[in-house]
Amino acid sequence: MEIFLIMLALVGSVFWWNYRRFKRMRAQSFDWYAQTYPQHIQDGQARCRECKNSRIHTRKVDNYSLREHFCPNCGVTLYYSPLPE
Ligand SMILES: [Zn+2]
Repeated sequence: MEIFLIMLALVGSVFWWNYRRFKRMRAQSFDWYAQTYPQHIQDGQARCRECKNSRIHTRKVDNYSLREHFCPNCGVTLYYSPLPE
């Protein structure tokens, strides 16, 4: 019985951690980027805040329905967006 409770607590904390991570990533949206780094928005397009590169790539975030927008030049993550349905 005790082992069951320990397992439940472990699984619960993994879910909780994943949920927190998801919320944190989802909060870093394009709007957040535009508000935080308005100097790096040009013609409605974001550019890298580190190297000013305007060619932003995207990749799917494993296990989450989110896309990561990142700079292929220096690798920094800029913002996240929901996956298209
Ligand atoms: Zn960059």
